[in-house]
Amino acid sequence: MWWQEPVTKLKGIGPKKALEFENINVVTIGDLLNHFPRQGCYLDYSHVKTIDELTTDGSMQLFRGSIVRLNNRRSMRNMKYATITVGDGTGFAEIVLFGAQTYMTRVYHTGDEVFVIGKVGLGRTAKSVTAASLSHVKDEKAEAPGILPTYALSGSLTQNNVRSAVRQALALARKELPECLPAPLLRAKHFLPRLEALENIHFPKSQELLEKARQRFIFEELFFLQCGLLHHRVEIKRDSRGIKMARSGKLVDRVRSQLGFALTDSQKKAWQEIDDDMQSPEPMNRLVQGDVGSGKTALAMLALAKAVENGYQGCLMAPTEILAEQHYQEMQKVLEPAGIRTALLTGGLTAKRRREVLEGLADGSIQAVVGTYALIQDAVVFHSLALAITDEQHRFGVAQRAKLQDKSQYAPHVLIMTATPIPRTLALTVYGDLDVSLMKGMPPGRKPVQTLCYTEEKRAAVYKGLIHQVQEGHQAYVVCPLIEESEGVDARAASDLYDELTHGYLKGIPCGLLHGRLKPEEKDAVMESFARNETKVLITTTVVEVGVNVPNATLMIIEGADRFGLAQMHQLRGRVGRGSAQSYCVLLTSSTNPVTLERLQIMRNCSDGFLLAEKDLELRGAGQFFGLRQHGLSDLYIADILRDTDTLVEARKAAQWAMNDPQIAREVEQAAATTQFDGRFERIFNA
Ligand code: ADP
Ligand code: MG
Repeated sequence: MWWQEPVTKLKGIGPKKALEFENINVVTIGDLLNHFPRQGCYLDYSHVKTIDELTTDGSMQLFRGSIVRLNNRRSMRNMKYATITVGDGTGFAEIVLFGAQTYMTRVYHTGDEVFVIGKVGLGRTAKSVTAASLSHVKDEKAEAPGILPTYALSGSLTQNNVRSAVRQALALARKELPECLPAPLLRAKHFLPRLEALENIHFPKSQELLEKARQRFIFEELFFLQCGLLHHRVEIKRDSRGIKMARSGKLVDRVRSQLGFALTDSQKKAWQEIDDDMQSPEPMNRLVQGDVGSGKTALAMLALAKAVENGYQGCLMAPTEILAEQHYQEMQKVLEPAGIRTALLTGGLTAKRRREVLEGLADGSIQAVVGTYALIQDAVVFHSLALAITDEQHRFGVAQRAKLQDKSQYAPHVLIMTATPIPRTLALTVYGDLDVSLMKGMPPGRKPVQTLCYTEEKRAAVYKGLIHQVQEGHQAYVVCPLIEESEGVDARAASDLYDELTHGYLKGIPCGLLHGRLKPEEKDAVMESFARNETKVLITTTVVEVGVNVPNATLMIIEGADRFGLAQMHQLRGRVGRGSAQSYCVLLTSSTNPVTLERLQIMRNCSDGFLLAEKDLELRGAGQFFGLRQHGLSDLYIADILRDTDTLVEARKAAQWAMNDPQIAREVEQAAATTQFDGRFERIFNA
């Protein structure tokens, strides 16, 4: 098929250019057609602004000017970045480039006339432009006016190289391009046919057609995703290697009394569902969604006990060493006294201990194990694994989950625990292949975290309060503002805040710095030092939001709170209020917008993560679930489950209809396997 041929078949692409294309993940002609311009990255000549017309609201805009200065810079933390300043007589704009983007300073020179598309915001001296793409005006002049795409580039590739290649590929598509959506669906939804959609996503004939093309591709992707999930669900349930367990008996009872508390009503309900699932011959595939601190660990302990009671092994996988160790302590406290042999398996074990654990797992003498990624390494062999639990699963991809399941000769029962407060409608569609247990409410006796909201001028007083907490022997978190969705930029912001605070308000106080750019060992070292109360203040990005338990931490300051979603701040806030002392969460904002301030006030009165998530959805739309996206919950191509919620629900319905009709289901599966260019839908089906 033409779409499987390498791009070197196209005119103007030799081996050298092909390598550059490979850097942007384009190998075949099909890949090229799937290399859509980023949203908003089109040159629409009827919409070129002057610099003084640019609005600094963070939206993507197009302007034209000449380059007055190029600079390569280093931040305080020694990270490389570059700036290009562009002027047009009405003002100046500073384009900020990070990481791979800095190559542009070699391609462009002072005096060059350029078109710039980028996210425009307020900078220190000039308007600041991020996520920018540039092109030479002289290159654009040759093109007929209209709406032109701009693509992600690499090396010496130019927009014109890619555009010319895409034009040739579209010419091939015009001769032969199979449709992949079922015909009745295409008719009912009035979608553009695949070819027309493809032409308009690359070279839109109008803004309207561009939007229609996007709608089709978004639907297409979500539809195949949902079909894949439904297909999966049926496969899992159909697996005849499931293990039907007996009704719970003495061992489960003993563990239950060993917990040291009575289960809350919502824990009871969730446990009932898990218990029933494990007694069914079909493998369990259940997600437990419960707010931070709602007591999910107890359910994991009971499920492990049940597996052991029936003569099998169970394992619990955690995303970090620290979380794994915390769970291990719980196992030693709750499972060991009931007579269950437990172990911890992490990368940090000595070679000798590691060998012992591996032997114990292989011969069955270890009955319940907790660990990190170390659990899915090839060297790990289980004697009889019947239950695989993952905690905070959004840190684990589907593939890793599957690998854990592959470690059993059976089809193990799978339990996934998460505190990510996604609104219910969204959860059901996102986790389309899972059954969901929802845990509401908290165990009794919790002191609610007192939440306060202050504007910028109170910052000094807030940090004075922090020092007071430290003098009292407590610890604190400082969360730095969300700049944009990029680990690199957020890491830089955290580093800058660390420098500012340790030289200013927090001079002389032992502080730690945590961000996503650290290596796993570095992260663990920072966290351990904080857990041991050696560092008093942890300055951090949102990476801290998952499951860490340091009960001595009583204060959390969230800087730039207006930039966070309510649900995400709630996740963060869950890091404090874990001990017996009164805890506080301070939201700092420099915003004076009454609507923003009112939104932040909601945090003071509401401590229900799900309610806050619904509020977020209502107030800001789905697009603001930042954290989720960072956790790879949606490594989708063009769709965004959080922005395209309505389409997602529609696609879910359509998928149910399609998969219920054997003829159409077969068509869909074939389409996923054959007509798609880069195999991404096929991967969903075979995951
Ligand atoms: P999460 O759902 O965030 O994983 P945990 O399982 O860590 O929550 O539980 C948080 C705390 O609440 C733990 O200290 C745990 O011992 C306690 N806890 C859990 N269930 C109950 C209960 N039913 N009654 C009292 N305390 C409980
Ligand atoms: Mg937990």
